[in-house]
Amino acid sequence: MAKVIDSKIPAGPVPEKWKEYKAHQRLVNPKNKLKLDVIVVGTGLAGASAAASLGEMGFNVINLCIQDSPRRAHSIAAQGGINAAKCYQNDGDSVYRLFYDTVKGGDYRAREANVYRLAEVSNNIIDQCVAQGVPFAREYGGMLANRSFGGAQVSRTFYAKGQTGQQLLLGAYSSLSCQVKAGKVKLYTRYEMEDVVIVDGRARGIIAKNLITGELERFSANAVVIATGGYGNTYFLSTNAMGCNCTAAVQCYRKGAYFANPSYVQIHPTCIPVHGDKQSKLTLMSESLRNDGRIWVPKKLEDAKKLQAGTLQGWEIPEEDRDYYLERRYPAFGNLVPRDVASRAAKERCDKGFGVNNTGLAVFLDFSESINRLGIDVIMQRYGNLFEMYEEITDVFPGDVANTINGVTYYKPMMIYPAIHYTMGGIWVDYELQTSIPGLFAIGECNFSDHGANRLGASALMQGLADGYFVLPYTIQNYLADQAIWAKVGTDRPEFDEAEKAVNAEIDRLINIKGKRSVDSIHKELGHIMWEYVGMGRTAEGLKTGLKKMHELEKEFDTNLFVPGTKEGLNIELDKAIHLRDFFTMGQLVAFDALSRNESCGGHFREEYQTEEGEAKRDDENYFYVGCWEYKGKGNEPELIKEPLEYEAIKVQTRNYKN
Ligand SMILES: Cc1cc2nc3c(=O)[nH]c(=O)nc-3n(C[C@H](O)[C@H](O)[C@H](O)COP(=O)(O)OP(=O)(O)OC[C@H]3O[C@@H](n4cnc5c(N)ncnc54)[C@H](O)[C@@H]3O)c2cc1C
Repeated sequence: MAKVIDSKIPAGPVPEKWKEYKAHQRLVNPKNKLKLDVIVVGTGLAGASAAASLGEMGFNVINLCIQDSPRRAHSIAAQGGINAAKCYQNDGDSVYRLFYDTVKGGDYRAREANVYRLAEVSNNIIDQCVAQGVPFAREYGGMLANRSFGGAQVSRTFYAKGQTGQQLLLGAYSSLSCQVKAGKVKLYTRYEMEDVVIVDGRARGIIAKNLITGELERFSANAVVIATGGYGNTYFLSTNAMGCNCTAAVQCYRKGAYFANPSYVQIHPTCIPVHGDKQSKLTLMSESLRNDGRIWVPKKLEDAKKLQAGTLQGWEIPEEDRDYYLERRYPAFGNLVPRDVASRAAKERCDKGFGVNNTGLAVFLDFSESINRLGIDVIMQRYGNLFEMYEEITDVFPGDVANTINGVTYYKPMMIYPAIHYTMGGIWVDYELQTSIPGLFAIGECNFSDHGANRLGASALMQGLADGYFVLPYTIQNYLADQAIWAKVGTDRPEFDEAEKAVNAEIDRLINIKGKRSVDSIHKELGHIMWEYVGMGRTAEGLKTGLKKMHELEKEFDTNLFVPGTKEGLNIELDKAIHLRDFFTMGQLVAFDALSRNESCGGHFREEYQTEEGEAKRDDENYFYVGCWEYKGKGNEPELIKEPLEYEAIKVQTRNYKN
């Protein structure tokens, strides 16, 4: 019999579901809260906000992260901003419009009810963060300032220069620190979760590695929340922080948590292009730059050839010979089309030979028009740190005057190209953010919940903080309300013995392979396979080849890996080897999902399924579902379980950003 997934979405019309939910949910008696322990793994925006909120509500929280401080979580990298439907610009924005844009942006593959709830709580997030002292940009009159991000025709993105993630994380961190001081949160930095412990079918604890001593430690609790981020680093080169990994999520998947929509991977259009094979990191140039920067390639192929040969510079090409291809193809949204659309359009131009750098894999992002219109001071106020970051990496300052043609001043343009950036797929969760394992919850980028097949810019921070501050602290109580009558299990139970033994055995296995290849050399090769066969354009044939190559490379990993040192004490190579083991599982999962989805939608583009104009062609008749995968052992194909999508408020149609 087919497995049935209960997404626990309350009955009633979409806008009322969350209110209905809150009116009828069970809340834990304040006295009982003192007896209940919750493990929160991760201190990014999702984890830190959840741990702080749960602590403040009276629960006892154990909070772990791999960095030496919560302030160093990957969330600190977020540049451009966070969305909310405040409508401060009086430009017609509303909760409904944010909801609609997000569902449409996700190519109609997200759950309606979840997205509506997200749009509703978005406004509370801004209030919460302002109360914490987050220094959002303000207009001269004191009002919070906004800018636009892709997929929206209104200005709803709140920002703190190009450092929004850092400022929001400092806000969450101060709340967290308050709870640490109050004794409600116990913080464990430089600890990595290696496994989840299941007792009688429920998540009851974790095994974590102390990254400094190398020792394994046991933690027991009434519920476990993972907030461990996305799996973008499966591709080796990505905009994610080097430490981002999917070990905790994959381990939960191995223990029975479903993994949803893994093939929905976001490729961001505005990253600094790859410049050699010694690179281990790609740098994002925030999408906010598309507010004032215009994307173009030359109209003439011969100009492109000269740019590639280095005999012509972008600023020498006059206006009439420039092809602002996004403005040409999508007049209504122009440079602010969603990321998947902008990335594919850049690839299309470069595939046709119009790339502008020596590899032919770059397009221009040009600020000449906006600097001429607004002045360099205004542009620097908006994007100063991004311009400086670009200069530090490329030695080109985009605010420098370069040329004058027919009385028009041209500035040095940036060069950009799409790169792996964000993962919409993640651990499957129901409306309460509970996974398919009772007592195990997933929040932030590591769950699949709200973005469908493509996330809109500035919506990840919104989702992470919505989950952490406003959704999980309520929904987890439905589960914890029952837990108050059960005693917490001891870490001396056989389930903990078994889990720790298995983690130890894996560590020994990796250390004792004693082969010849470094972790990075194998990871880089995996990244090449992922980008080539499971990247921006996928085909059934390519995906099968990719899977075969991944299996072969995994064998090489299992037999020819070299991990220096011992398992005692700090061993970064060992930690990376554990992560790589899990990137292999993840990479294959992405390919299986991509192969099973014979359609193109959002970040999943199957070349066989496109319109004559090269746009993604969905198949709603056959693929209007969340694809959930159940682990079936190493090397085996996982089992696909479908959660049908039901839309009642929004008409499912083909996305249109042209008019
Ligand atoms: C360059 C860049 C710019 C971005 N800009 C924006 C933006 O402007 N707006 C926007 O909305 N989004 C943006 N994003 C996306 C956004 O930053 C992320 O999606 C979001 O910060 C993820 O938050 P998180 O809390 O879910 O996970 P993370 O911030 O990745 O935090 C994960 C946490 O889990 C911990 N962890 C991981 N594994 C383990 C383990 N096994 N054991 C213990 N702890 C573990 C880590 O230590 C960390 O504390 C950007 C992303 C990048 C890469």
